[in-house]
Amino acid sequence: MMEMPLSFDELDFGPPHYRDMLPPVCRRNYGKWKYHEHVRGGIIRHVAESGEEAYSVRAGIPKYLSADTVIELCELAERYCEGYLKFTSRHNIEFIAGDRESAERLAGELERLGFPVGGTGRCLKAIIHCVAMSHCHMAAADSLSIAKALYEEFYEDFRNPEAFPERVKIAVSGCLNMCGATHASDIAVIGVHRRPPVVEDAVVEKVCSVPELVKSCPTYAIRPKRGNPRSVEIDEEKCVYCGICYSLCEGIRIHDPENDGVSLWVGGKASNTRAGPLFARLVVPYIKPEQPRWSTLVGTVRRILEVYRQNARRGERMGEWIERIGWERFFRLAEIEFSEKCIDDWIFSVETFRRGTNFKMP
Ligand code: SF4
Repeated sequence: MMEMPLSFDELDFGPPHYRDMLPPVCRRNYGKWKYHEHVRGGIIRHVAESGEEAYSVRAGIPKYLSADTVIELCELAERYCEGYLKFTSRHNIEFIAGDRESAERLAGELERLGFPVGGTGRCLKAIIHCVAMSHCHMAAADSLSIAKALYEEFYEDFRNPEAFPERVKIAVSGCLNMCGATHASDIAVIGVHRRPPVVEDAVVEKVCSVPELVKSCPTYAIRPKRGNPRSVEIDEEKCVYCGICYSLCEGIRIHDPENDGVSLWVGGKASNTRAGPLFARLVVPYIKPEQPRWSTLVGTVRRILEVYRQNARRGERMGEWIERIGWERFFRLAEIEFSEKCIDDWIFSVETFRRGTNFKMP
Protein backbone atom coordinates (compact mmCIF):
# COMPACT_ATOMS: atom_id res chain seq x y z
CA MET A 1 0.00 0.00 0.00
CA MET A 2 1.31 3.45 -0.92
CA GLU A 3 2.15 5.62 2.11
CA MET A 4 0.63 9.09 2.26
CA PRO A 5 3.22 11.93 2.32
CA LEU A 6 3.49 13.75 5.66
CA SER A 7 1.59 17.02 5.94
CA PHE A 8 3.47 20.27 6.50
CA ASP A 9 2.37 20.30 10.17
CA GLU A 10 3.77 16.81 10.71
CA LEU A 11 7.06 17.75 9.08
CA ASP A 12 7.45 21.01 11.00
CA PHE A 13 9.79 20.46 13.93
CA GLY A 14 9.83 24.03 15.28
CA PRO A 15 8.69 24.99 18.79
CA PRO A 16 5.07 24.29 19.71
CA HIS A 17 2.62 27.17 19.42
CA TYR A 18 2.81 29.32 22.57
CA ARG A 19 -0.95 29.08 23.15
CA ASP A 20 -0.57 25.34 23.78
CA MET A 21 1.83 26.17 26.62
CA LEU A 22 -0.39 28.71 28.40
CA PRO A 23 -1.82 27.79 31.82
CA PRO A 24 -5.55 26.97 31.46
CA VAL A 25 -6.65 30.15 33.30
CA CYS A 26 -4.67 32.28 30.80
CA ARG A 27 -6.12 30.35 27.85
CA ARG A 28 -9.67 30.85 29.14
CA ASN A 29 -9.20 34.61 29.60
CA TYR A 30 -6.82 35.31 26.73
CA GLY A 31 -6.96 39.03 25.84
CA LYS A 32 -9.72 39.64 28.40
CA TRP A 33 -7.85 40.71 31.51
CA LYS A 34 -9.42 43.71 33.21
CA TYR A 35 -6.73 44.85 35.65
CA HIS A 36 -3.93 43.67 37.93
CA GLU A 37 -2.62 44.80 41.31
CA HIS A 38 0.48 44.16 43.41
CA VAL A 39 -0.48 42.10 46.45
CA ARG A 40 3.01 42.13 47.93
CA GLY A 41 6.60 41.65 46.77
CA GLY A 42 6.58 38.83 44.21
CA ILE A 43 2.80 38.30 44.04
CA ILE A 44 0.49 39.98 41.50
CA ARG A 45 -3.28 39.51 41.37
CA HIS A 46 -4.90 39.50 37.92
CA VAL A 47 -8.64 39.90 37.45
CA ALA A 48 -10.35 38.93 34.18
CA GLU A 49 -13.53 40.37 32.69
CA SER A 50 -15.18 37.05 33.51
CA GLY A 51 -14.43 37.68 37.21
CA GLU A 52 -11.88 34.86 37.31
CA GLU A 53 -8.68 35.57 39.26
CA ALA A 54 -5.09 34.39 38.88
CA TYR A 55 -2.01 35.10 41.01
CA SER A 56 1.50 35.38 39.56
CA VAL A 57 4.20 34.29 41.98
CA ARG A 58 7.72 35.35 40.94
CA ALA A 59 11.04 34.30 42.43
CA GLY A 60 14.71 34.87 41.66
CA ILE A 61 16.70 31.80 40.66
CA PRO A 62 20.32 31.14 39.73
CA LYS A 63 21.16 31.21 36.02
CA TYR A 64 22.63 27.70 36.25
CA LEU A 65 20.25 25.08 37.61
CA SER A 66 20.91 21.48 38.58
CA ALA A 67 18.51 18.77 37.41
CA ASP A 68 17.48 18.27 41.07
CA THR A 69 16.47 21.94 41.36
CA VAL A 70 14.50 21.77 38.10
CA ILE A 71 12.65 18.69 39.46
CA GLU A 72 11.86 20.54 42.72
CA LEU A 73 10.47 23.52 40.79
CA CYS A 74 8.41 21.24 38.54
CA GLU A 75 6.95 19.50 41.61
CA LEU A 76 5.81 22.90 42.92
CA ALA A 77 4.19 23.61 39.55
CA GLU A 78 2.38 20.25 39.70
CA ARG A 79 1.18 20.92 43.25
CA TYR A 80 0.00 24.53 42.89
CA CYS A 81 -0.30 25.46 39.21
CA GLU A 82 -1.69 22.52 37.22
CA GLY A 83 1.82 21.64 36.05
CA TYR A 84 2.64 24.99 34.39
CA LEU A 85 5.55 27.37 35.04
CA LYS A 86 7.55 29.84 33.03
CA PHE A 87 10.87 31.65 32.98
CA THR A 88 10.63 35.41 32.55
CA SER A 89 12.87 37.39 30.20
CA ARG A 90 15.03 38.32 33.22
CA HIS A 91 15.31 34.66 34.11
CA ASN A 92 13.04 34.71 37.15
CA ILE A 93 10.78 31.74 37.62
CA GLU A 94 7.07 32.54 37.58
CA PHE A 95 4.07 30.42 38.54
CA ILE A 96 0.37 31.20 38.09
CA ALA A 97 -1.74 30.07 41.04
CA GLY A 98 -5.54 30.01 41.06
CA ASP A 99 -6.17 31.69 44.45
CA ARG A 100 -4.46 33.85 47.08
CA GLU A 101 -4.01 31.03 49.57
CA SER A 102 -2.22 28.77 47.04
CA ALA A 103 -0.08 31.74 45.96
CA GLU A 104 1.00 32.45 49.56
CA ARG A 105 1.72 28.76 50.25
CA LEU A 106 3.73 28.50 47.03
CA ALA A 107 5.70 31.66 47.93
CA GLY A 108 6.48 30.15 51.33
CA GLU A 109 7.75 26.93 49.73
CA LEU A 110 9.95 28.90 47.31
CA GLU A 111 11.46 30.90 50.19
CA ARG A 112 12.08 27.67 52.13
CA LEU A 113 13.97 26.29 49.12
CA GLY A 114 16.12 29.43 49.16
CA PHE A 115 14.60 31.35 46.23
CA PRO A 116 13.74 34.99 47.10
CA VAL A 117 10.17 35.88 46.17
CA GLY A 118 10.11 39.36 44.64
CA GLY A 119 11.00 41.18 41.43
CA THR A 120 7.59 42.87 41.05
CA GLY A 121 6.65 46.56 41.30
CA ARG A 122 9.11 49.44 41.84
CA CYS A 123 11.92 47.16 42.88
CA LEU A 124 15.30 46.00 41.68
CA LYS A 125 14.49 43.52 38.92
CA ALA A 126 16.52 40.33 38.62
CA ILE A 127 20.10 41.17 37.69
CA ILE A 128 20.88 39.61 34.35
CA HIS A 129 24.36 38.72 33.18
CA CYS A 130 26.10 36.96 30.33
CA VAL A 131 27.80 33.59 30.76
CA ALA A 132 31.26 35.21 30.71
CA MET A 133 34.17 32.98 31.65
CA SER A 134 31.94 30.03 32.53
CA HIS A 135 31.36 29.47 28.83
CA CYS A 136 32.67 32.31 26.64
CA HIS A 137 36.26 33.18 25.70
CA MET A 138 35.54 36.83 24.84
CA ALA A 139 34.84 38.10 28.36
CA ALA A 140 37.08 40.80 29.84
CA ALA A 141 35.40 40.52 33.25
CA ASP A 142 33.69 37.80 35.23
CA SER A 143 30.01 38.77 34.98
CA LEU A 144 28.89 35.97 37.27
CA SER A 145 30.83 37.14 40.31
CA ILE A 146 29.82 40.76 39.63
CA ALA A 147 26.13 39.84 39.45
CA LYS A 148 26.43 37.82 42.66
CA ALA A 149 28.18 40.66 44.51
CA LEU A 150 25.52 43.16 43.36
CA TYR A 151 22.65 40.80 44.12
CA GLU A 152 23.90 40.19 47.65
CA GLU A 153 24.28 43.94 48.27
CA PHE A 154 20.80 44.81 46.98
CA TYR A 155 18.96 41.61 47.95
CA GLU A 156 16.24 43.40 49.95
CA ASP A 157 15.57 45.82 47.08
CA PHE A 158 14.58 42.81 44.96
CA ARG A 159 11.99 41.75 47.53
CA ASN A 160 10.59 45.21 48.28
CA PRO A 161 7.98 46.34 45.67
CA GLU A 162 8.38 49.99 46.77
CA ALA A 163 12.19 50.10 46.97
CA PHE A 164 12.65 52.80 44.30
CA PRO A 165 10.68 55.57 42.54
CA GLU A 166 10.38 53.19 39.56
CA ARG A 167 11.75 49.76 38.58
CA VAL A 168 15.52 49.44 38.34
CA LYS A 169 17.19 47.04 35.93
CA ILE A 170 20.84 46.10 36.31
CA ALA A 171 22.65 44.04 33.69
CA VAL A 172 26.22 42.78 33.48
CA SER A 173 28.13 41.90 30.31
CA GLY A 174 31.66 40.54 30.25
CA CYS A 175 32.56 42.42 27.05
CA LEU A 176 31.37 45.04 24.57
CA ASN A 177 29.20 42.51 22.73
CA MET A 178 26.73 43.26 25.54
CA CYS A 179 24.90 39.92 25.79
CA GLY A 180 22.13 40.67 28.28
CA ALA A 181 20.91 43.98 26.81
CA THR A 182 23.20 46.07 28.98
CA HIS A 183 22.81 49.10 26.71
CA ALA A 184 19.07 49.21 27.57
CA SER A 185 19.39 48.86 31.36
CA ASP A 186 19.18 51.51 34.10
CA ILE A 187 22.62 50.46 35.30
CA ALA A 188 24.99 48.49 33.09
CA VAL A 189 28.33 46.94 33.99
CA ILE A 190 30.39 46.08 30.93
CA GLY A 191 33.76 44.35 30.88
CA VAL A 192 36.46 46.22 28.94
CA HIS A 193 39.90 45.49 27.54
CA ARG A 194 42.20 48.51 27.53
CA ARG A 195 45.20 47.40 25.51
CA PRO A 196 45.48 46.26 21.87
CA PRO A 197 45.89 42.51 21.35
CA VAL A 198 49.32 40.91 21.19
CA VAL A 199 50.11 39.04 17.95
CA GLU A 200 52.05 35.76 18.12
CA ASP A 201 53.49 35.50 14.63
CA ALA A 202 54.42 31.81 14.85
CA VAL A 203 50.81 30.80 15.66
CA VAL A 204 49.13 33.25 13.25
CA GLU A 205 51.31 31.96 10.38
CA LYS A 206 50.23 28.37 11.04
CA VAL A 207 46.53 28.49 11.95
CA CYS A 208 44.97 31.86 11.05
CA SER A 209 43.64 33.43 7.87
CA VAL A 210 45.21 36.85 7.30
CA PRO A 211 42.43 38.08 4.92
CA GLU A 212 39.79 37.02 7.48
CA LEU A 213 41.60 38.92 10.23
CA VAL A 214 42.00 42.06 8.12
CA LYS A 215 38.33 41.91 7.15
CA SER A 216 37.14 41.35 10.73
CA CYS A 217 38.43 44.58 12.26
CA PRO A 218 35.72 47.28 12.48
CA THR A 219 38.28 50.12 12.57
CA TYR A 220 40.69 48.85 9.89
CA ALA A 221 43.45 48.53 12.48
CA ILE A 222 44.76 45.19 11.17
CA ARG A 223 46.94 44.82 8.10
CA PRO A 224 49.34 42.15 6.77
CA LYS A 225 52.64 42.46 8.59
CA ARG A 226 55.32 44.34 6.73
CA GLY A 227 58.08 41.88 5.83
CA ASN A 228 55.93 38.84 6.84
CA PRO A 229 52.54 38.83 5.05
CA ARG A 230 51.62 35.47 6.60
CA SER A 231 51.09 37.31 9.91
CA VAL A 232 49.43 40.61 10.82
CA GLU A 233 50.24 43.83 12.66
CA ILE A 234 47.88 46.09 14.59
CA ASP A 235 47.75 49.87 14.43
CA GLU A 236 47.45 50.74 18.13
CA GLU A 237 46.07 54.20 17.35
CA LYS A 238 43.07 52.71 15.55
CA CYS A 239 42.38 49.69 17.80
CA VAL A 240 39.33 50.02 20.07
CA TYR A 241 40.06 46.76 21.97
CA CYS A 242 36.82 45.11 20.82
CA GLY A 243 38.33 41.61 20.75
CA ILE A 244 36.80 40.48 17.44
CA CYS A 245 40.19 39.52 15.98
CA TYR A 246 40.97 37.57 19.13
CA SER A 247 37.86 35.46 18.66
CA LEU A 248 38.99 34.48 15.13
CA CYS A 249 42.57 33.51 15.72
CA GLU A 250 44.42 31.60 18.41
CA GLY A 251 47.57 33.57 17.66
CA ILE A 252 46.05 36.83 18.92
CA ARG A 253 45.82 37.38 22.66
CA ILE A 254 43.82 40.19 24.24
CA HIS A 255 43.39 39.23 27.90
CA ASP A 256 45.51 41.35 30.20
CA PRO A 257 44.98 40.97 33.96
CA GLU A 258 46.75 44.27 34.67
CA ASN A 259 44.52 46.35 32.41
CA ASP A 260 41.18 44.57 31.89
CA GLY A 261 38.28 45.61 34.11
CA VAL A 262 34.76 47.00 33.91
CA SER A 263 33.01 50.22 32.88
CA LEU A 264 29.76 51.57 34.32
CA TRP A 265 26.87 52.87 32.20
CA VAL A 266 23.66 54.51 33.38
CA GLY A 267 20.22 55.54 32.15
CA GLY A 268 19.15 52.96 29.55
CA LYS A 269 15.71 51.44 29.17
CA ALA A 270 13.87 49.36 26.60
CA SER A 271 10.40 50.43 27.67
CA ASN A 272 8.30 52.46 25.29
CA THR A 273 6.63 54.53 28.00
CA ARG A 274 7.05 58.33 28.43
CA ALA A 275 10.51 59.20 27.02
CA GLY A 276 10.65 56.06 24.86
CA PRO A 277 13.62 53.68 24.84
CA LEU A 278 16.95 55.16 25.96
CA PHE A 279 20.55 54.06 25.52
CA ALA A 280 22.69 53.86 28.67
CA ARG A 281 25.59 56.33 28.78
CA LEU A 282 29.13 55.84 30.03
CA VAL A 283 29.73 57.35 33.49
CA VAL A 284 32.77 55.47 34.81
CA PRO A 285 35.19 54.34 32.06
CA TYR A 286 37.22 51.94 34.18
CA ILE A 287 36.99 50.15 37.50
CA LYS A 288 39.64 47.60 38.34
CA PRO A 289 38.60 43.99 38.99
CA GLU A 290 38.23 43.14 42.69
CA GLN A 291 36.94 39.57 42.84
CA PRO A 292 34.97 38.31 44.64
CA ARG A 293 33.28 41.34 46.31
CA TRP A 294 33.97 44.05 43.67
CA SER A 295 33.81 46.65 46.45
CA THR A 296 34.60 49.79 44.36
CA LEU A 297 32.02 48.85 41.74
CA VAL A 298 29.36 47.87 44.27
CA GLY A 299 29.98 51.09 46.26
CA THR A 300 29.57 53.23 43.12
CA VAL A 301 26.33 51.44 42.17
CA ARG A 302 25.06 51.99 45.72
CA ARG A 303 25.74 55.75 45.51
CA ILE A 304 23.89 55.98 42.19
CA LEU A 305 20.91 54.00 43.51
CA GLU A 306 20.72 56.07 46.71
CA VAL A 307 20.67 59.44 44.90
CA TYR A 308 18.08 58.06 42.49
CA ARG A 309 15.99 56.77 45.41
CA GLN A 310 16.13 60.13 47.19
CA ASN A 311 15.75 62.53 44.25
CA ALA A 312 13.67 61.02 41.44
CA ARG A 313 9.93 61.52 41.14
CA ARG A 314 7.63 58.56 41.54
CA GLY A 315 7.31 56.73 38.23
CA GLU A 316 10.50 58.23 36.78
CA ARG A 317 13.05 55.76 35.40
CA MET A 318 16.73 56.44 36.06
CA GLY A 319 17.43 57.83 32.55
CA GLU A 320 14.33 60.03 32.60
CA TRP A 321 15.31 61.46 35.98
CA ILE A 322 18.86 62.25 34.78
CA GLU A 323 17.58 63.85 31.56
CA ARG A 324 15.33 66.08 33.70
CA ILE A 325 17.96 67.24 36.20
CA GLY A 326 20.88 67.26 33.73
CA TRP A 327 23.91 64.97 33.53
CA GLU A 328 26.18 67.58 35.22
CA ARG A 329 23.97 67.51 38.32
CA PHE A 330 23.82 63.71 38.25
CA PHE A 331 27.63 63.46 38.27
CA ARG A 332 27.75 65.88 41.24
CA LEU A 333 25.02 64.10 43.21
CA ALA A 334 26.52 60.64 42.64
CA GLU A 335 30.02 61.97 43.42
CA ILE A 336 31.39 60.55 40.18
CA GLU A 337 34.37 62.25 38.61
CA PHE A 338 33.66 63.37 35.04
CA SER A 339 36.22 62.23 32.48
CA GLU A 340 36.64 63.23 28.83
CA LYS A 341 35.98 59.57 28.03
CA CYS A 342 32.35 60.14 29.05
CA ILE A 343 31.84 62.59 26.18
CA ASP A 344 29.66 60.99 23.53
CA ASP A 345 31.55 61.69 20.28
CA TRP A 346 29.64 59.24 18.12
CA ILE A 347 29.20 61.51 15.11
CA PHE A 348 26.71 59.34 13.23
CA SER A 349 23.96 59.44 15.84
CA VAL A 350 20.77 61.17 14.73
CA GLU A 351 18.88 63.25 17.29
CA THR A 352 15.52 62.65 15.65
CA PHE A 353 16.05 58.91 15.28
CA ARG A 354 12.74 57.19 15.95
CA ARG A 355 13.10 54.76 18.84
CA GLY A 356 9.59 54.32 20.25
CA THR A 357 6.54 52.72 18.73
CA ASN A 358 4.17 55.49 19.86
CA PHE A 359 2.68 57.57 17.07
CA LYS A 360 0.00 60.20 16.64
CA MET A 361 -2.97 59.64 14.40
CA PRO A 362 -3.37 62.53 11.92
FE1 SF4 B 1 40.52 45.59 15.44
FE2 SF4 B 1 39.07 45.01 17.60
FE3 SF4 B 1 41.24 43.54 17.01
FE4 SF4 B 1 41.52 46.07 17.88
S1 SF4 B 1 40.68 44.34 19.04
S2 SF4 B 1 42.57 45.12 16.17
S3 SF4 B 1 39.71 47.06 16.94
S4 SF4 B 1 39.35 43.69 15.79
